Amino acid sequence: MDFEFSEVEKMFKEVTRKFFESELKPIYKKIDQQSYIPKEFIKKMAKQGYLGILNSQKYGGSEASFVTAAIVAEEIGKNDISLATAVFYLVNTAWGYILEKYAKEEIKEEFIPKLVKGEAFIGICSTEPTGGSDVASIRTTAIKKGTNYVINGEKIYISGVKEILENDGGLVTLVKTKPELKHRGISLFFLPIKRMKNIEVSYLENMGRTGISTSLLRFKDSEVEEKYILGNLNEGFYYAMEGFTLARILVAASCLGMAESVIEQGIEYIKNREAFGKPIAKYEGIQFPLTELYTLIEASKLLVYKAAWLVDKYKNKEVEWKEVVKFSAMSKMLLPQLALNTVLEVMKWHGALGYTKELGLEIGLRGVLSYYLGAEGTTNIMKIIIGREVLGKEFVPYKE
Ligand SMILES: Cc1cc2nc3c(=O)[nH]c(=O)nc-3n(C[C@H](O)[C@H](O)[C@H](O)COP(=O)(O)OP(=O)(O)OC[C@H]3O[C@@H](n4cnc5c(N)ncnc54)[C@H](O)[C@@H]3O)c2cc1C
Repeated sequence: MDFEFSEVEKMFKEVTRKFFESELKPIYKKIDQQSYIPKEFIKKMAKQGYLGILNSQKYGGSEASFVTAAIVAEEIGKNDISLATAVFYLVNTAWGYILEKYAKEEIKEEFIPKLVKGEAFIGICSTEPTGGSDVASIRTTAIKKGTNYVINGEKIYISGVKEILENDGGLVTLVKTKPELKHRGISLFFLPIKRMKNIEVSYLENMGRTGISTSLLRFKDSEVEEKYILGNLNEGFYYAMEGFTLARILVAASCLGMAESVIEQGIEYIKNREAFGKPIAKYEGIQFPLTELYTLIEASKLLVYKAAWLVDKYKNKEVEWKEVVKFSAMSKMLLPQLALNTVLEVMKWHGALGYTKELGLEIGLRGVLSYYLGAEGTTNIMKIIIGREVLGKEFVPYKE
């Protein structure tokens, strides 16, 4: 057993830490205020090889390990606690990987090099107004017409649509190709929405992580060529779950980074802030919550990196996918909650200062709530996945 990163990973982490500390930390408040991640910064990320980090070198990607991808997510979370930059990075990373795994060569050659250069966003388009958790019940359909498919339906809370329309890219989209079936009737399409007609887009205003857009899309007889189908027809549910499993580990890694930087900020403050003639860190009411959070953060770090390490093990056929799914769900269940608890506690240590925009912790509070409440799957759904893996499929609560 070895609890250390390899020498190469340590060096990579150090370079990555320095990059985001000098390039992202100074602008994270601006990203939140302006609801926009500057293009120059995205270009710098691309130059460092952070975009398309899992994609093959053939398409310009870094072909890095999943542990490496998690390191980047952690360092981003530390330096933009709104988590908007983390969303930009991790959605592209997970769904860019799925695109490479399941798209036709022509599509990969067109979009992955753009993703790597920071000129395209690859998003996920699953949730519908009737609900996001019950993926098998989606209603959007894709019906064959000649060599095209005609899409009808609505998708909501979709991240990155504005970014796609302003640059390029597309959405890995779940649709029913056999509407009479549940998950076995779902196919995955890559929809290059900028090049398609008959899609109405409206933007939703979120309370946090405002640097990346969230949208409602209405597909009204919107046609796409059949070459945009990912993998086999009616197997899309499984490919999507693969993408969610990967994305959730990176979500957890970014929440880990956020919790680490927030607690560090808190430690500095309580050592210096005095009340009743002593640093407040001396009081158990402050020190004990610190020790509890600090311990949980250290324990969670092991969980998140074990999940990432399992992905690499799975790629080498050394573990079963089920194990990855379980650790991914455990990480996604734990980390947004822990990051939320951490930011709330550290705000409390700051007294009235904690409530100010000047301090900036409120940006983290608003940001992490997105992952606590829903994005990439709710906490209850993570519990159902863990329960299924621990107890067996027959214990899934919504199955007869
Ligand atoms: C900021 C943000 C960005 C997002 N970006 C995207 C995106 O890019 N693409 C995309 O497709 N989606 C996106 N989503 C949507 C997200 O995936 C959904 O919010 C999530 O899947 C939950 O769906 P829902 O909001 O419809 O809640 P519902 O599914 O309606 O659930 C409501 C509540 O019921 C609970 N619940 C549901 N079923 C059960 C059960 N069986 N047992 C116990 N509790 C249950 C849930 O945990 C939740 O608390 C985003 C969400 C947010 C907040």
